[in-house]
Amino acid sequence: MKTPTLYIIIPCYNEEQVLPITSGIFLKKLLQLIKDQLITPESKIVFINDGSKDSTWEIIKELCKKEYYLGICLSRNRGHQNALLAGLLETKDLCDITISIDCDGQDDINAMDDMICAYYKGADIVYGVRNNRDSDTCFKKFTAEMFYKIMTKLGVESIYNHADYRLVSSKILEELARYKEVNLFLRGMFPLIGFNSTCVYYKRETRIAGESHYPLSKMISLAVNGITSLSIQPIRYITYMGILVSLLSGLGIIWAVLCVTLQIAISGWTSMICIICFLGGAQMISLGIIGEYIGKIYLETKERPRYSIKEYTYKTENNSTKIDFIK
Ligand code: UDP
Ligand code: MG
Repeated sequence: MKTPTLYIIIPCYNEEQVLPITSGIFLKKLLQLIKDQLITPESKIVFINDGSKDSTWEIIKELCKKEYYLGICLSRNRGHQNALLAGLLETKDLCDITISIDCDGQDDINAMDDMICAYYKGADIVYGVRNNRDSDTCFKKFTAEMFYKIMTKLGVESIYNHADYRLVSSKILEELARYKEVNLFLRGMFPLIGFNSTCVYYKRETRIAGESHYPLSKMISLAVNGITSLSIQPIRYITYMGILVSLLSGLGIIWAVLCVTLQIAISGWTSMICIICFLGGAQMISLGIIGEYIGKIYLETKERPRYSIKEYTYKTENNSTKIDFIK
């Protein structure tokens, strides 16, 4: 197999505190992989600035004066998944493999060697999987476990404890480019694409500096997006619940008619209130779930671009894989 050109894809949002530290760590790794002849010397590190409000883009531009770094600046903050997609799709024609990784140094970069070896052995997708959640709070551990369990129950194929640290070949990225959805949950989309895949296990550390950009609200919205973009099972459950409630109401009607006929009808205020409250709540939840899907359809039908690029630190000729740096 020919030595692949690797692009390391790193989305960055307000990362001025970590970037000066981790950029050097990534470069050291890239140079070591080149020296070990696992990847070609044309390999690069690509930073995608996801509309940062701090000096992240200035730092990236400064780094890009060195030949191993490339920078892409999105027009505004579009979220981690869109920034990652931008990095993958913009570079898919320039390299043979990409490894996506967060820029905060939490994911063990030494797992890259094993990922590339797995690629040499025939895997087109190599999922980086954390072997424990020691660095997480109890709350995050519990909610993450629940999330994966619910995803599996709803028929969504997802890799337990895998986030977005993964190696993907350009063949897979060509396929990914055909998935036009705007509601992105990349870690659930790659298993859908198929081809040969495997996992590499690593220990995830705490952030080197700065703060997580995934507060509880964003985590919940990522989880809801993951479920509703990849499974319609919740709507089916509503139908099942509707059937069950209808059957129970049928029994209730028979019971009520019997009570009237036998003249033993009582003033059932409490039971009435309970039933009304229960059904009211169930209907609201059902409408909410259906609304979530309708909202998704609404967003999908608009076919808006998933990201817009304001600036590159490099340029490529039409249909060429040659890179020119913009000075
Ligand atoms: N990120 C991004 N856009 C956002 C939020 C985050 O590009 O709107 C990047 C961020 O810079 C980091 C990665 O996504 O490289 C993961 O974010 P973070 O470390 O905050 O998430 P956590 O590891 O806490 O889940
Ligand atoms: Mg992180």
